[in-house]
Amino acid sequence: MMFFLYLIRLQTNKYTLKSRGFILAITILFISGFINGNQEINSTFFLLLYPIASFSIRGLKEGLVWTFSLLLILITIYTQMSFLYNVYSFIFFCIAYFMVSYLLYWYRHYELKIFTKMFQVNKLKEELEEKNKELKRIAITDKLTNIYNRVKLDSKMEAEMNRAQRFGHGFSIIIIDIDYFKEVNDNYGHQIGDCVLIEMANLLKSHVRNTDTLGRWGGEEFLIICPETKEEGVLKLANNLQKTIEENTFSTIGSKTASFGITTYINGDNTNSILKRADDALYKAKTTGRNKVEIL
Ligand code: GH3
Ligand code: MG
Ligand code: MG
Repeated sequence: MMFFLYLIRLQTNKYTLKSRGFILAITILFISGFINGNQEINSTFFLLLYPIASFSIRGLKEGLVWTFSLLLILITIYTQMSFLYNVYSFIFFCIAYFMVSYLLYWYRHYELKIFTKMFQVNKLKEELEEKNKELKRIAITDKLTNIYNRVKLDSKMEAEMNRAQRFGHGFSIIIIDIDYFKEVNDNYGHQIGDCVLIEMANLLKSHVRNTDTLGRWGGEEFLIICPETKEEGVLKLANNLQKTIEENTFSTIGSKTASFGITTYINGDNTNSILKRADDALYKAKTTGRNKVEIL
C-alpha cells in the first residue's frame, strides 16, 4: 500500500490536492477521536496510525510536518482540556507517538533510498540489455545492405547442417551473384555500385519467405538458406527471384541481372561440400550465359 502510494507520488502531481484533502479529513477525524476519547487513554492509541497514514499519503517531508502538527494540536487541546486524560498516560502517549513517528521517518527514509536505487539499477539493466541487443544485431548485420552478414550465414548454415545430419531435416541453399557488377563500378562509380547492392538486398528480402535466411555472402554475392525445402521448392524460389531481378529497374543503372547456383542437402554433406556444389552450380550458370538458375 505504501509502495503504491509512493509510486503515485513519484509519477504524478495530480493526486496532490486530493490526497491533501484526504489527509486533512483524516486529521479532523483523529482530533475528534482524541476529544471524544472518554478519558480512556487506550482509545487514543489509534492515533499512532496517524504517522503511518501521513507518511504514506504525503511522503516523507510533508508527512513529517503533518505528524508533528497533529501532535502539537493534541498537546494544545490537552493543555486546554486537561480533564481529558490522565497526565502520565498522556505523556506516555506523546512519547509513543514520537517514537513511532521517528521510527517511521527513518524507515521511510531508507525505504525511499532503496527504491530509488532499485529504480536506478533497473533502468541501468534495461539500458544494458538494450545495448547488448543492439551489439548482437550489429554483429550479425551487413553494414551496407542491412541484411545478415557472413557471421550469421555461417552459424545458420551450421545449425541447418546439424538438423539435417541428426534429424534428417533437409534444406537447400541459393548463391546469387550479380552479373557483370564490375561494370557498374567502372561506369557509374563505387557509390552507385553500393546503391545497387542495397537495392538488390531489399529486392531479395521482399521476395524470400520468413523462414528463409538471406544474407550477404561477400562482395556482390548473396546467400539464401531455405530450411525444409526440396529441389522443387528452391527451384521455384530461385526462378522467381531471377525473373524479379531481370524485370526490376534499378535507379541510375536501369536493368541488371544475376546468376543463381542452387543445391539441396544430400546425405553425407558437410557445410563445405554443399557450398562447393552451390558454387559449382553458380559457375555453371555464369559460364553458360548468366541471368539463369542452375542446380547441382
Ligand atoms: P560476373 O558476372 O562474372 O560475376 O562479373 P562481375 O563483374 O560481377 O564479377 P567480378 O568478380 O569480376 O567483380 C565483382 C565486383 O564487385 C568487383 C568489386 O569491386 C565489386 N564489389 C564487391 N564488393 C563491393 C561493394 O561493397 N561495393 C561496390 N560498389 N562494389 C563491390
Ligand atoms: Mg562474384
Ligand atoms: Mg558478379
